[in-house]
Amino acid sequence: MKPNTHYANLKDSYLFFNIAQKTKAYLEAHPDQRLLRMGIGDVSLPLSDVVIQALHEAVEDQGKKDTFHGYMPECGDPALRTAIAAYYKKRGVILEDDEVFVSSGASDELGDILDLFDRENTALVIEPAYPAYVDASLIAGRKVIHLPAGKENGFLPEPSDDLAGDIIYLCSPNNPTGAVYSHGQLKAWVDYANRHDSVILFDAAYEAFIGDENLPHSIFEIEGAKKCAIEICSLSKTAGFTGTRMGYTVVPKDLVREGMSLNAMWVRNRTTKTNGVSYIIQKGGAAIFTDRGQDQIRENIKVYKNNAKMLMEALDRLGIWYCGGKNSPYIWMECPNRMDSWSFFDYLLKEIQVVGTPGEGFGACGEGYFRFSTFGSPEDTREAAKRLVDLLG
Ligand code: PLP
Repeated sequence: MKPNTHYANLKDSYLFFNIAQKTKAYLEAHPDQRLLRMGIGDVSLPLSDVVIQALHEAVEDQGKKDTFHGYMPECGDPALRTAIAAYYKKRGVILEDDEVFVSSGASDELGDILDLFDRENTALVIEPAYPAYVDASLIAGRKVIHLPAGKENGFLPEPSDDLAGDIIYLCSPNNPTGAVYSHGQLKAWVDYANRHDSVILFDAAYEAFIGDENLPHSIFEIEGAKKCAIEICSLSKTAGFTGTRMGYTVVPKDLVREGMSLNAMWVRNRTTKTNGVSYIIQKGGAAIFTDRGQDQIRENIKVYKNNAKMLMEALDRLGIWYCGGKNSPYIWMECPNRMDSWSFFDYLLKEIQVVGTPGEGFGACGEGYFRFSTFGSPEDTREAAKRLVDLLG
């Protein structure tokens, strides 16, 4: 038996391991200090009341003969698929219910969706990037083309016809840079994909953080996208589902390659490889798409946005270049005095006990940059912002 030797092409991921090692060593040497953790990508607020209530009710349902549910439909509870399609309609995106697939989260989908494509296809990844794009592509034996982004294009590079990407990963709002594509910029990618017969995998895990009315939440707000894009969404950050697990994926029926419908293929894939998301979790997820649910998740998002505001005000006062924060839970700042990102990490840890994420961990072009997450507590974020200004001002 030969194993999947493509695993040997993966680079070891030292990022969060190194951060954990460094913070552990610091705390051992300074047991009286408390760290302000601005690096985490996990949420800190609990689930909303509507979700908790729905989860409790669903648990009760499972204990009674009349309301018990066994296997759920593999592609999702029809009522939930309808509710998600209605969520899109509010933004003018018309989807058929069976173009929406309920999932266990975006990470699962980012890996599994590659089953739709031939192994010979290349994957184009804009870096700095969420590490799963490169790793899932490598595991599947694909060639990865790295497209570096930088300050000069606001970390939002546009396509050029000399790029040869069959599968194109776009993430907006972006993790780690927090940058968000405009309609015009996304249209350029959609046109490129349609010209080159590519398929865009659009990661919209952070769409709910967009506050600016003029920015697109979904790639399907762009004309022509249904012929070239799949959208992968998550309730993890939108609604605090990181530990509860639910998301959804949109595969349009217009997405056809060599006469094959990718929607039909995805139905076949899901019915083969999954037995659906649990009844209880789907009930909890459905509560988010009610009016009360939307109001309640907005309250949590407001807390994170306020955290972002505190950090952005600090960076503005310091005159430090950054992007993100406004329509995203991440702030991507340039390290001061041309410091490299790990030196800046060490400096903040030692001097002000603030922990962030070195940009280099998201790809070579992240060197010299640093990511702050806004998912921490308001108290810690306020204190971290104050200490940043005192240290760097
Ligand atoms: N996509 C991006 C850009 C993310 O940052 C994350 C999680 O941090 C995910 C996908 C994974 O989300 P999920 O929790 O739904 O698997």
